[in-house]
Amino acid sequence: MYSIGVDLGGTNIAIGLCDAELKLVDKGSVPTPQNDPEKIVKEMAALARLLIDRNGVMLGEVEYVGIAVPGAADDKSGTVIYTPNLPFKDYQIAEVFKKFLPVQRVILANDANAAALGEALAGAARGAAGCIMVTLGTGVGGGIIINGKIFSGSLNSLGAEIGHTVIAAGGRQCGCGRRGCWEAYSSATALKNMTSEKMQELSLKGIPSLLFEEAEKEGKVSARTAFNAMKRADTHAKAVVDEYIYYLGTGIANMINIFQPEVVIIGGGVSGERENLTAPLSAMVNAEQYTRNSEKKAKIVTATLGNDAGIIGAAGLGR
Ligand SMILES: [Zn+2]
Repeated sequence: MYSIGVDLGGTNIAIGLCDAELKLVDKGSVPTPQNDPEKIVKEMAALARLLIDRNGVMLGEVEYVGIAVPGAADDKSGTVIYTPNLPFKDYQIAEVFKKFLPVQRVILANDANAAALGEALAGAARGAAGCIMVTLGTGVGGGIIINGKIFSGSLNSLGAEIGHTVIAAGGRQCGCGRRGCWEAYSSATALKNMTSEKMQELSLKGIPSLLFEEAEKEGKVSARTAFNAMKRADTHAKAVVDEYIYYLGTGIANMINIFQPEVVIIGGGVSGERENLTAPLSAMVNAEQYTRNSEKKAKIVTATLGNDAGIIGAAGLGR
């Protein structure tokens, strides 16, 4: 048997065909049509059909299609409730998809949750019963896997919005309206902002730093600037990275205290720093967590599936 995973993004629809072992057999992507939900679903179904046909698979051999949605989805009713960057609102996506491609079953999940499931089933946390994925990008996304299943709460299918838990009450303004959210301190955007603020402070005082040289090399201040200058032993850059890791670790220690996962997976752009990030982060989190004296501690690792986490996770929704 096979399953198909759809990662519905704001700019691209990526689809993967997976075998019974959840190995990616084939994948493809198309630009996401704008402003028309039905066109988007039609395009999705056409690409799924193409993958089935070119691999000699019969439609009846496809057990289900999983769709990772960039927003809130209700799997029970097969509905996309809302997507901030796509035109879906209370949309019967499962029913419309089946109209274009009559598969047995369509399963829905939020995209960050699906990515976490992908890493849990076939990536960085393979074999772990419980894991938490923290994705450091524009925001702080999250996915919580308990006993191999996505935890999304029981009220609005919007659980695991871990980025909007407050780690500094009354602190930095978050896009969600609250102050002091984890996302306002630990996203790639926050790291970039913290780097800019440090550079402004140094510039006012006329203090030299490799931060300026690294930013110039890149043509801008980015989430990489502080890490790059730190690797060249710049103390101001190290101060920015240390502060960033302190906030990131505070949130992770909170998650560990609640869920006691075997693995915490770091994904998103910042995870490209690999052990420059995970080594100091693990040391900080191990010292701060409630179970600091236990020999059994959550491992902090970086994601391994990259952009395929969404399609593999979506294809794993029925496993
Ligand atoms: Zn927030």
